[in-house]
Amino acid sequence: MARVIVVGGGLSGCGAAIAARKAGHEVTLLERTDMVAGAAVRAGDTGGNGCFTAQHELRFLGGGELFDALASIKLHDNVAFPDVSIHGYIYNTGLVEPTIRRVVEKVGVKVLLESRMTNVVKEGSQIKAVKVEDGRLVEGEVFVDCTGTRGGVAICNKYGKGCVMCLFRCVSFGDRVSIVEKAGGKESFRYQPDGKPGRIGGGIFLFKDTLAADLKARIEEEGLVRIPLPKHLIDYSHHQILSGNRSNDFLENIVMTDIGPVAKCSAIGPMKLDKLRQVPGLENAQVEDPRSPRWNHVSDIGIAERDNSLKVKGFANLFCAGEKSGQTSVDGAIITGYLAGHNAARNAAGADPLELPTSLAIGDYMAFATEKLRTGEALKVGCRLSRGEYWERMQEIGLFTDDVGKIKSRVEKTGLAGILSRKVTD
Ligand SMILES: Cc1cc2nc3c(=O)[nH]c(=O)nc-3n(C[C@H](O)[C@H](O)[C@H](O)COP(=O)(O)OP(=O)(O)OC[C@H]3O[C@@H](n4cnc5c(N)ncnc54)[C@H](O)[C@@H]3O)c2cc1C
Repeated sequence: MARVIVVGGGLSGCGAAIAARKAGHEVTLLERTDMVAGAAVRAGDTGGNGCFTAQHELRFLGGGELFDALASIKLHDNVAFPDVSIHGYIYNTGLVEPTIRRVVEKVGVKVLLESRMTNVVKEGSQIKAVKVEDGRLVEGEVFVDCTGTRGGVAICNKYGKGCVMCLFRCVSFGDRVSIVEKAGGKESFRYQPDGKPGRIGGGIFLFKDTLAADLKARIEEEGLVRIPLPKHLIDYSHHQILSGNRSNDFLENIVMTDIGPVAKCSAIGPMKLDKLRQVPGLENAQVEDPRSPRWNHVSDIGIAERDNSLKVKGFANLFCAGEKSGQTSVDGAIITGYLAGHNAARNAAGADPLELPTSLAIGDYMAFATEKLRTGEALKVGCRLSRGEYWERMQEIGLFTDDVGKIKSRVEKTGLAGILSRKVTD
């Protein structure tokens, strides 16, 4: 049994830790804050379009725990998001953290909260240990970097509009620090239109009780509501500022979803509070404290150079997942988390890494996303199972299906059914 050390307790880190643990290893998960789940505490929508097929494939491959956990706190089903046509659902973000934490602890992962990694110890291409801010040294045989790409304060001050004390809470718990960066690995960045590194988050969250009563009732009933923006508030220049691949729907309307404790306004871009209150139904709107509706945080900083098995280039025993591996979504974080954790376990056991065949949607997607990252294209518009180029490709080549029986037999044909639940020890 080897010691696998996962740094970062977002969905990718939780997935990696579960997979490495199920493969039979002793797993320690270090998280900087007092909660796991990371960005997922204010995400909410998942499972739409190509994610449906991928989520089920992962289940049949033996890695269903986290998607089952999200489904168990489903708040709204079959939500018609602007750029997702079928099967999208919203989980209750207010319940996601304890729900996920219980799953991780149940499989026997040792979770160390308020344990911010600040440095690494390495010998040549081998990572030997990570150093925690309070002086502890955590040694292991294999490491997985799941530290995400968002914040901290210094980055948001330098490349954004300054810290607004967003959900990452760097002011309280310290800035994000990654293993890859500290070990001297190669990283890449997305760029803003003005050439500054990173991408600026465009979503804000409103206290539901500050919405007009009829709007609050509608959003809780329907899950998603589009509020047309008064003409003088529409600003198409936000298109460029936002992720660049969002439809005009987001610029001409407030696309508001009920994610449980708060109402989420996706890709809204910068809008001062007094302007926001000119939108019908938002006359008393208050943004979830302490964030402001101007900008929140800078993301897409420090994506690791890695291969298709999620092994970080230049290192013998370092893997990465989630945003660190170039995936910006709930589904992408969970899928890459499981694959990285499983491959970390295989690495510890001296086995070849698992690369899923392209007859599976996940295998084809991973190969596609890796190539897009290599050419730099993924840094321009991202790469997701639920929208854009990959979603089109998936339909064209027949990999999308919502027939669960067909997904099951497709996985069985590869001979890999249940592989993510099997022990991999030497
Ligand atoms: C506000 C918001 C809304 C979103 N909405 C959606 C959505 O609706 N649907 C969707 O599919 N995607 C959404 N996304 C994207 C999606 O949530 C993320 O891409 C995904 O959850 C990222 O997971 P991750 O594990 O890669 O990173 P993160 O969730 O960022 O987790 C990284 C973790 O690493 C920890 N960490 C960092 N440095 C250290 C260190 N040195 N030591 C220890 N721990 C460290 C951090 O504290 C954090 O918990 C949203 C993102 C945000 C921010």
